[in-house]
Amino acid sequence: MTDIILKAEKLKRVFTSGKSSFAAVDQVSFELKKGECLGIVGESGSGKSTVARLITGLLPCSEGEILFVVPEKTNGLHREDGSCINITQAGKRELRKVYRHMQMIFQTPTESFDPRRTLGDGIGESLRNMGIKGLELKKRVDNLLEICGLSSEFALRYPHQVSGGQCQRAAIARALAAEPQLLICDEATSALDVTVQKQIMELLMKLKQEQNLSVIFICHDLALVQMFCDRVLVMNQGRIVETGTPDQIIDSPREEYTRMLVDAVLDI
Ligand code: ADP
Ligand code: MG
Repeated sequence: MTDIILKAEKLKRVFTSGKSSFAAVDQVSFELKKGECLGIVGESGSGKSTVARLITGLLPCSEGEILFVVPEKTNGLHREDGSCINITQAGKRELRKVYRHMQMIFQTPTESFDPRRTLGDGIGESLRNMGIKGLELKKRVDNLLEICGLSSEFALRYPHQVSGGQCQRAAIARALAAEPQLLICDEATSALDVTVQKQIMELLMKLKQEQNLSVIFICHDLALVQMFCDRVLVMNQGRIVETGTPDQIIDSPREEYTRMLVDAVLDI
């Protein structure tokens, strides 16, 4: 697994309601390389968010395995069997370590923040956990805000005092604070209007390039996926039905389902 940062092996997640149960995710396997941006597309309900929640350990798998390679430079995270953490078996403490290297950005930016605390407080949380405080903490938070296109004044605001786009920038700043290797964006721009969406995409593209981030980019907008991703997984009813480069998927889809997804976009 030299240049592989994440490996998902036959993931399955079953949900039960009453007497019936169904697999929201089934037989999902993929690998993610360092610095690679992997798109996940599929219609609503196809299991994209469930995959994201499984990978981050927010939701336990019914079956399967997720291996995450933590970077060599952080000592203490190493296990005897190498620098690989099995997320499916990780306890709370181990997951906390994982989140230093894996961060998630949600569709609703306010989800990333506690409404009773300032954005600066939220952005600085992981830094405080690392023992950074005082002036150094303030400098780091201001710098993260600046990287994400916000002035330091935003550190003092509460989530309800900023626009959706500004809050998403702050959420990205918060995600970057721990200097993660992997960013998981679940419809991170879907709640924003088109101009703001474009600005956030430009920010993500800049960050991806400058920080050599690996990204899992979940998005129902194929145009954004084409612009941003190196490779795409197409999901239908919990399964991966097709994999390819964005150009392949869009210009010459192999599966009827993918063709339908592409046509649905072109129709608009
Ligand atoms: P997507 O993100 O592609 O729209 P989701 O992963 O959110 O799809 O959902 C996949 C399927 O799993 C849907 O049918 C959804 O209703 C169902 N589902 C998601 N979360 C739960 C849950 N906690 N309990 C029961 N069913 C769920
Ligand atoms: Mg979703």
